[in-house]
Amino acid sequence: MQITVKQAPENHRRQRPKSGEKLGFGNLFSDHMFLMDYTSGKGWENARIVPYGPISLDPSAMVLHYGQEIFEGMKAYYARDGAVCLFRPDRNAERMNRSAARMCLPEIPVEDQLAALRGLVRLDREWIPKDEGASLYIRPTMIATEAGLGVRPSAEVLYFIITGPVGAYYPRGFDPVRILVEEQYVRAAKGGVGEAKTGGNYAASLLAAKNAKALGFDQVLWLDAGQRSFVEEVGTMNIFFLLGGELVTPPLSGSILPGVTRDTVLTLAREWKIPVAERPVEIDEVMKGAADGTLSEAFGSGTAAVISPVGSFSCRGREVAVNGGKAGELAVRLFREITGIQYGEIEDRHRWIHRVE
Ligand SMILES: *Cc1c(COP(=O)(O)O)cnc(C)c1O
Repeated sequence: MQITVKQAPENHRRQRPKSGEKLGFGNLFSDHMFLMDYTSGKGWENARIVPYGPISLDPSAMVLHYGQEIFEGMKAYYARDGAVCLFRPDRNAERMNRSAARMCLPEIPVEDQLAALRGLVRLDREWIPKDEGASLYIRPTMIATEAGLGVRPSAEVLYFIITGPVGAYYPRGFDPVRILVEEQYVRAAKGGVGEAKTGGNYAASLLAAKNAKALGFDQVLWLDAGQRSFVEEVGTMNIFFLLGGELVTPPLSGSILPGVTRDTVLTLAREWKIPVAERPVEIDEVMKGAADGTLSEAFGSGTAAVISPVGSFSCRGREVAVNGGKAGELAVRLFREITGIQYGEIEDRHRWIHRVE
């Protein structure tokens, strides 16, 4: 794949945040973006890096009406030795292609996705923050751009990657979150698009999250669409329980997003000889376990937070603390191990780190 590069003129560069400046999530973007066009019959072409800026779409562009869209999320960061690194980007690229297949969008060879990432991150490397825990968030996205209101897979598609500096997820320490068990709305049903990383799943989740926040909770715990009995995910993260000494997470049975961090957690736990089970988990088992102490820990896993400990679950008006509302030992150990591998402080035994240069 040939990538043409048009650099932003010096006088059009954006103001980069200074070291120590407070960074939020997703409100600052770097100088450049990667774009590539697809036309059915011709394939992918015009791979290019250009100055960051608005893109133009016909108002009838299919993505705006029928939501044919997918995305990914990952981070670039400086390791301790000064190398620019990505964590398991091949996994994100493979998942992008699985999401694409589900949403009738064209796949992109993994090697080409990685070349696009490397080219963009290398060019905007000065945007990678050097503060502890901060990183450059990367958002690859694919949208249906064909003009027309007929319901069919778009014959024209745009793939783009934007990046921007984000702050450490835990500026005030490893704070456990308060979770509301959602019994009315569901995120995804088996057979639907829950295992694809597509924007519609997020649109579907907004109302429940908004209601939960109004009640003082941080996030919702999603239950299965059929019976509202089994646990699925927490907010936009995968969920883990340490139940009777066994690390349990719901299986990837169609409605759950296959998280890269989920896979990382399972791999490490197995390596540490912790009993692991991917099996259906009933919400009743979770609530009972939290009350009688067999549930010693619960935490979410995802790229942004890495590990997010759960302090309590609230279900049918009853709130039960997990581990006294404090982060558990395993959650802390996993967080330290994963971030330690990422920053090059712990040996990368699984070749998870990709150096950009
Ligand atoms: C992206 C995502 C996750 C986490 O995936 P990671 O690859 O670990 O970042 C979990 N659940 C949902 C719904 C997601 O969109």
